[in-house]
Amino acid sequence: MFYFFTQNKLTQTKYIFYKEVIMVYNFCAGPAMLPEAVLKEVQSELTNYSQCGASIMELSHRSEIFDKVCREAKINLKKLMKLDDSYDVLFLQGGASLQFSAVAMNLGLDDLPAGYINTGIWSKKALKEAKRFTDVVEIGSTEASGYKNVPKQNELNLSEPLSYVHYAPNETIGGLEFDYIPEVDCPLIADMSSTILSQDIDFSKFDMIYAGAQKNIGPAGLTIVVIKDTLLARSKLALNKEHQTMPMLMNYSVQSEHDSMYNTPPTFGIYLAGKVFEWLLDLGGISAIELVNQEKAKRLYSYLDESQLYSNPIAHANRSIMNIPFVLQCKSDTEQTAELNSRFLKAAEEHNLLNLKGHRSLGGMRASIYNAMPLSGVDALINFLKAFEQSTI
Ligand SMILES: *Cc1c(COP(=O)(O)O)cnc(C)c1O
Repeated sequence: MFYFFTQNKLTQTKYIFYKEVIMVYNFCAGPAMLPEAVLKEVQSELTNYSQCGASIMELSHRSEIFDKVCREAKINLKKLMKLDDSYDVLFLQGGASLQFSAVAMNLGLDDLPAGYINTGIWSKKALKEAKRFTDVVEIGSTEASGYKNVPKQNELNLSEPLSYVHYAPNETIGGLEFDYIPEVDCPLIADMSSTILSQDIDFSKFDMIYAGAQKNIGPAGLTIVVIKDTLLARSKLALNKEHQTMPMLMNYSVQSEHDSMYNTPPTFGIYLAGKVFEWLLDLGGISAIELVNQEKAKRLYSYLDESQLYSNPIAHANRSIMNIPFVLQCKSDTEQTAELNSRFLKAAEEHNLLNLKGHRSLGGMRASIYNAMPLSGVDALINFLKAFEQSTI
């Protein structure tokens, strides 16, 4: 990703600069890096979209031009995910977090509990929120052992009938990932905020997938929901129940019937997400980007594992290929871990490697390496990690 600084600001920064362009790699967990090619294209048409004389941000969501943008984004997302017409794509707002409530309100049933798998901060938060609207059972958890792995299929408690099963295939904060798709006898729902479009999995095994766009798809403010017709029908029943209090805006069938335009949708986010989908299709689809993602993760984990200074605590089979947390082992008598960490972060920034600080709940470091992070960014990080380790010996 390129950051552009004015001459004036440049004098205040310590970043290496050439030809007015400063190369930085942004390892933020979200909002995260976007593909440079997409940003450049957006920049080139920002004030005059498709020769219409206005910015895409200035167009009515009911205009023909925007309608085309929206329709194509939907078609291309389904093409990437290889999903048929039994699925609809909704472009919503409120982030992945609003889906924690929406899923329970729309898809919870009066006579059955919903099953939740608890593998980290996000899936636990989803469970707690769902409890406010429906009966919930925890059908698997690795909380007691500190979220270092995920429950195996045969460890899931699936003996009782459930309204649906919810889980987070990739826990963004813990850097923990499922190495399988749970087999269940009810609708399967996944919070894929930090993993959607990163790996070529069978998306048709899911009845609903949702994601905040700001990690692997586009800008913050857009939430993607991919939902099967059977669950749309269920959400319609929920809306028509007596004494229901669900806002119309949160109802999936209402949103689907209005093509996500029950009110003004996040138009710029949809436009930008559409560009990212095209970028991925041009690259060769999800299987092509997955090769790069696997290679990036392999290189980084290999180095962390052989190093004496850094370590990652997650069981190898469940290591995330998108979010890689690591801690620094302080061996000095004169320097505390906190000082070592802040020295590390300062040096990383001087090398144009930004936002490596881990989540506030875990401390340590975290490198988020979503689709838009090029291999060169991971190599630059590894080179820096090596040099910093040398400097501590
Ligand atoms: C970031 C994240 C969320 C929260 O997303 P918001 O859009 O900020 O609500 C939820 N779940 C997962 C897995 C995430 O990575």
